[in-house]
Amino acid sequence: MQVLVLNCGSSSLKWKLIDAASRQALARGQVERLARTEGAHAAAIDEALRALDGARVDAVGHRVVHGGERFHDPALIDDEVVAAIEACAPLAPLHNPANLAGIRAARAALPGVPQVAVFDTAFHHTLPRRASTYALDPAVAARHGIRRYGFHGTSHAFVAREAAAFLGQPLERLRLVTLHLGNGASACAIEHGHSVETSMGFTPLEGLVMGTRPGDLDAGVVLALLREYGQSVDDVDRLLNQASGLAGLSGVGNDLREVEERAAQGDDRARLAIAVFAHRVRKYVGAYAAVMGGVDAVVLTAGIGENAVAMRRRILQRLDFLGLSLDEDRNADARVSDAKRVADVGDPTSRVRVLVVRTDEELMIAEEAAKVVAGRTAVRQPGPIPIAVSARHVHLNQEALETLFGPGATLTPRNDLSQPGQFACQETVNLIGPRRRIDGVRILGPLRSKCQVEISRTDEFHLGVDAPVRHSGHVEGSAPITLEGPKGTLTLQEGLICAWRHIHMHPDDAKAFGVQDGDEVQVEVHGGPGRDLIFGDVVIRVSPKFRLEMHIDTDEANAAELSQHATGQLLTPEGEELATTAATARLLSRRPTLRRPALTGA
Ligand code: ADP
Repeated sequence: MQVLVLNCGSSSLKWKLIDAASRQALARGQVERLARTEGAHAAAIDEALRALDGARVDAVGHRVVHGGERFHDPALIDDEVVAAIEACAPLAPLHNPANLAGIRAARAALPGVPQVAVFDTAFHHTLPRRASTYALDPAVAARHGIRRYGFHGTSHAFVAREAAAFLGQPLERLRLVTLHLGNGASACAIEHGHSVETSMGFTPLEGLVMGTRPGDLDAGVVLALLREYGQSVDDVDRLLNQASGLAGLSGVGNDLREVEERAAQGDDRARLAIAVFAHRVRKYVGAYAAVMGGVDAVVLTAGIGENAVAMRRRILQRLDFLGLSLDEDRNADARVSDAKRVADVGDPTSRVRVLVVRTDEELMIAEEAAKVVAGRTAVRQPGPIPIAVSARHVHLNQEALETLFGPGATLTPRNDLSQPGQFACQETVNLIGPRRRIDGVRILGPLRSKCQVEISRTDEFHLGVDAPVRHSGHVEGSAPITLEGPKGTLTLQEGLICAWRHIHMHPDDAKAFGVQDGDEVQVEVHGGPGRDLIFGDVVIRVSPKFRLEMHIDTDEANAAELSQHATGQLLTPEGEELATTAATARLLSRRPTLRRPALTGA
């Protein structure tokens, strides 16, 4: 499939024709200095189409900066999607109107060619509430959609995927810090494939120092400039968006190469600009390692991340305490290109891997657009998926069982669970958190090799712990918890998780649904009377031991007011019970995902 990728800015149009299957760029171009008039984007797209000289275009992929609360996945564009992107425009007044002008012009110029919007914000929709929430009056925040959205999502997702492939490890086992350091710059903490923290927020102004933007800034500075120092809103806008960052600090401009040259000549402003830039990035690396309880790899990308040898060294020096050390020679020699996307610049002894990865947002957009378009041809799906609410529970190994229940203790089955071979036990334990305890938590059998304690968000708050959302069995680096049994207590250094919602499937089911182990899908849940809800990020688990069933936790069941015999269905864009590949089901769905329910306090 040949996808024309359009990146429409306020004053330029960048385009690339990409063969999605071979990942080859077939043609590319740029139209600069667009007039700020109606029709300028249409003229630019005409120019691009002329340059394409009749080359086949099977689909158009549009980069759209802000998808607001609505878009968590790429969307096939129709009038309703255009209206929804328009509704997000107040959140990105510089970007979304230009993106929309491109969409309108491309739809007019290429009628009948499917068009897909790919959003910079979408990858960050998995930010937990504690990371996406500003500590503001919630009524004000809700009224204006003020929260942390995050940007550069396409790039962070792309380099994370490339890094995992290079490391030969599944993304869902890795904790990554990705650093997109270009003219715009942002950091992202990616835990097991999901963005859990990112440095840009409500707008792309927050976070790292950028080419012309300051990044983090006390909001009081803005108030003081407006109130005490007589600046207008436009003055402050210009200061923050155009006259700050590397350019503002150095007085040289936003190109790091020139700032470095000037610094080498002894210019103190240029030196300070470099030091402030590097310091800010370092600070975020440390913060994000703390957020994830550790880090397996740091990934640098975009113009500065891919090319600036000295800046990489400044950012990553003296991080040995994290288990991270850079190899000076590898760092100096690293070259990445479309042909060789990844360079390993870590010292061979470094526990934390350090990778330079060439980003390619256009390629990612082309691939996403191709998936959405391919997914329009769907096939009939088999019957509904039963839903089970999984209450808090504990899995133990033999050693833990004996510590808690005495030497030689065995589990006493109480009743069988729906998954073959699994059972609830007579035995229970008490969970002791730093804040409060929860007594009588059921042990599930059979014994496992590792202990695991699965609780809900409400339990987490009650106990006073932060438990990561994890797939069952992935307990490395999760939260600690103390268990109390009749014969002893046991403190687990890790093992406490909130379980990712998931669907158990037999391989035959997986085949029928067209999904694989580890895929993420969206599921429409037919809950209580008149309440149909969409659960996003549902992971597929396939084993010959499993029977078809979706598991959600008690908070989610309460929020959805689920009845006893609730069922769910994999989603496709029209909301019909059609199957497609899981990835496509996820990418195609244009419905909002159910947010995790509010804490009810405890
Ligand atoms: P964007 O796409 O956000 O406009 P890029 O990803 O192209 O930005 O990054 C631009 C930045 O990369 C500029 O600050 C530029 O100076 C910097 N850069 C590119 N090559 C080098 C290099 N060899 N050394 C230092 N900085 C570099």
